[in-house]
Amino acid sequence: MKALILVDIQNDFLPGGALAVPGGDRVIPVANRVQCLAPLVVATQDWHPAGHGSFASSHGRQPGEVIDLAGLAQVLWPDHCVQGSRGAQLAARLDDSRIEAVLRKGTDAGSIATAVSSTTASARVPALPTIFAAAASTKCW
Ligand SMILES: [Zn+2]
Repeated sequence: MKALILVDIQNDFLPGGALAVPGGDRVIPVANRVQCLAPLVVATQDWHPAGHGSFASSHGRQPGEVIDLAGLAQVLWPDHCVQGSRGAQLAARLDDSRIEAVLRKGTDAGSIATAVSSTTASARVPALPTIFAAAASTKCW
C-alpha cells in the first residue's frame, strides 16, 4: 500500500507566516494533485503549546540561536504553529477531504515529542512499505 504524508503544510510555514519558507505555498497544488495516487493520505501538523521550549521567546533569546535543551542542541525558532492559532492550521488551499489523520508533533512543552491525534491511520502507517511525502517545511520537527 502506498501512503502520502503531507508534512507541515501549515500557514506559519507559508509566505506571510511566522516561520515562512519562501515558495512554500508552491507545494499545495502538487500535494492536492498527487493525493489521488495514494490510498492513504495523512498529514503532519506542527502543534506547539505556547511557551514551547524551541521558541526563542521562551528563553529571552533570538531566533536562530542554539541552546542546550535537555542535553540536546536546540535551534531556537520564532513562535510558530501555536496550538489553536491560525498559523498552526493546515493551509486553506490544501485539499483535506482525503486526509485520514493528522499527526501532531511538538506537543510537549519541553521537547519535540510527537503525539498521534487519531488511531485510524496510526494503526496502518507502520506497515506501509511505500511512502511519498510532500512538505512545506522540514525546518522544525
Ligand atoms: Zn515547530
